[in-house]
Amino acid sequence: MSQKLVLASNNAKKASEMQALLAPLGLEIVSQSQLGVEEAEEPHFTFIENALAKARHAAAVTGLPAIADDSGLCVAALGGAPGVHSARFAGEPKSDERNNLFLLERLSGIPENERRAWYCCCLVLVRHANDPCPMIADGQWHGIILNAPRGEGGFGYDPLFWLPELGKSAAELEPAHKNRLSHRGIAMRRLLERLHEQPLSKESGQA
Ligand code: IMP
Repeated sequence: MSQKLVLASNNAKKASEMQALLAPLGLEIVSQSQLGVEEAEEPHFTFIENALAKARHAAAVTGLPAIADDSGLCVAALGGAPGVHSARFAGEPKSDERNNLFLLERLSGIPENERRAWYCCCLVLVRHANDPCPMIADGQWHGIILNAPRGEGGFGYDPLFWLPELGKSAAELEPAHKNRLSHRGIAMRRLLERLHEQPLSKESGQA
């Protein structure tokens, strides 16, 4: 029998991607909206704290183990901004296009060798809401912020995220290629390794 795991996100693409990866481990992903869970607040300064808050909230409401992710772009010249504010960098309503324009404005006049940036993804799995030892996996993907967008694929800041070793922006990569390299792909593979080492079925983690 499969073990249900709530995904603390309403993003259907994330849910199906995770389901494909976790099914071989006997885990069934159920998205929190299917269980009537409202989105949790994300008030923190770090990805890890926000991911933990979301996972804990979903586990508390459903009584099931829960998994959450939080991700964003960090730009060295901006002291790590937009960071946890990546989705709404240019304010409400959230818009990738306005975020990208705002990022270009903030970096105007800054030379290429000072435009380093990295995407960060944190994944957290809690076995129950008060799990004292959550499973944590993160991934980073390094690049350079362009002066103008390139490419039509991906989402978010991908048209501005230049990968010098490939001579392409993240928006010019095939989805499977992006998954192999990206912060989210790295974090997912790390979490899978952890789950192979410590299957949920072998641990209750209950206090
Ligand atoms: P979320 O954690 O998936 O909701 O992502 C938060 C925000 O970070 C997104 O709205 C994007 O602005 C940015 N972001 C995260 N991952 C990516 C990515 O792979 N490409 C482009 N932007 C990303």
